Amino acid sequence: MTNRTPLIAGNWKMNLDHLQAIAFVQKLAWSLKDASHSYSDVEVALFPPFTDLRSVQTLVSADKLELAYGAQDVSAHDSGAYTGEISGQFLAKLDCAYVIIGHSERRTLHNETDEQIGAKVRAALKHGLVPVLCVGETAADLEEFGPSAVPVGQLKAALAGVPSDANIVVAYEPVWAIGSGQAATPEQAEQVCAALRAELAATLGPDTAAATRVLYGGSVKSGNIAGFMREPNVDGALVGGASLDLDEFSAIVRFKKHVGV
Ligand code: PEP
Repeated sequence: MTNRTPLIAGNWKMNLDHLQAIAFVQKLAWSLKDASHSYSDVEVALFPPFTDLRSVQTLVSADKLELAYGAQDVSAHDSGAYTGEISGQFLAKLDCAYVIIGHSERRTLHNETDEQIGAKVRAALKHGLVPVLCVGETAADLEEFGPSAVPVGQLKAALAGVPSDANIVVAYEPVWAIGSGQAATPEQAEQVCAALRAELAATLGPDTAAATRVLYGGSVKSGNIAGFMREPNVDGALVGGASLDLDEFSAIVRFKKHVGV
């Protein structure tokens, strides 16, 4: 790693209602406080369902917690006749710092295209949200095109029209590793994260590429986080299943203490 602050992000997916969210965030904050966690050393961001965000905002603000949070998706539109969609404007009002865009479950289950994902990235930036742009290949892609071609192509498409100084986070999430228990190896993650950084340099320039955090996601656990964090182009993790287990997630956040990185 370089001087980029590592980011550990928890994608709750469609889990935990707003009451459960309040209890979870309180316990996580206590657990990290007990462990004297330094948020300036390792940033922590949570991605609850939309319906939890107001409760999380109230708690974070009342207790002055250093936890960041964001949504799992955003509309490409600001307002209007888009039933069921959520504007970046609304997320910004809830003090969201981040928004996940292009998660493989949105690409697959909701048929989101690269063009739609690019429009969402631009909408997020317009409203001052940092997009956590997810890219990654399926097992079939891996066999057909090798490890980097698909994620790099997805990144390139999503960056169209994005200003060169944009503050974004990229999450490399091989689809075959998500929820499968079979994580990529640290070497595999490093190879693709390095290729993604090279694409960032080609598209947005070397300074933005050097400043942009590239995360790995896919079956990250407390037992394997250290290996990923030793890689120079991996700046953190997007964690799904393990982000719902308080002790696991807390241990992943505290990877420096627990595993001596
Ligand atoms: C995810 O869905 O973003 C993810 C990485 O899930 P998991 O950690 O469960 O593989």
